[in-house]
Amino acid sequence: MSTPARPPGILQRIGRYLLAALRERAAEHRGDPQMDPAEIARRHAICRTNACGQYLAAADQCAACGCHVGKKVAWRTASCPRGHWAAVTPVVIPPRPGPPAA
Ligand code: SF4
Repeated sequence: MSTPARPPGILQRIGRYLLAALRERAAEHRGDPQMDPAEIARRHAICRTNACGQYLAAADQCAACGCHVGKKVAWRTASCPRGHWAAVTPVVIPPRPGPPAA
């Protein structure tokens, strides 16, 4: 019998959430198109099949990344950590501001 998948610890989840929120905010700032509700539903349906073996149905949570799946699938820059679905917009981390030009 295999061990059930378990999500990462709270600190790792917080770190991943903050990075994901930063990516999504950058997409918002660029004016990238909003997510198509059909794409949100498609992603969620893929997770629910649990072909990855990481979907925790009781909590609607992904054990691979620890994210709440219902929220994750609605973010355009999010992607499945196991490659089952991809981001719909380029994932770009904005560069840190450099020193002012001379
Ligand atoms: S995001 Fe990927 S790994 Fe996580 S539950 Fe969905 S399909 Fe599985």
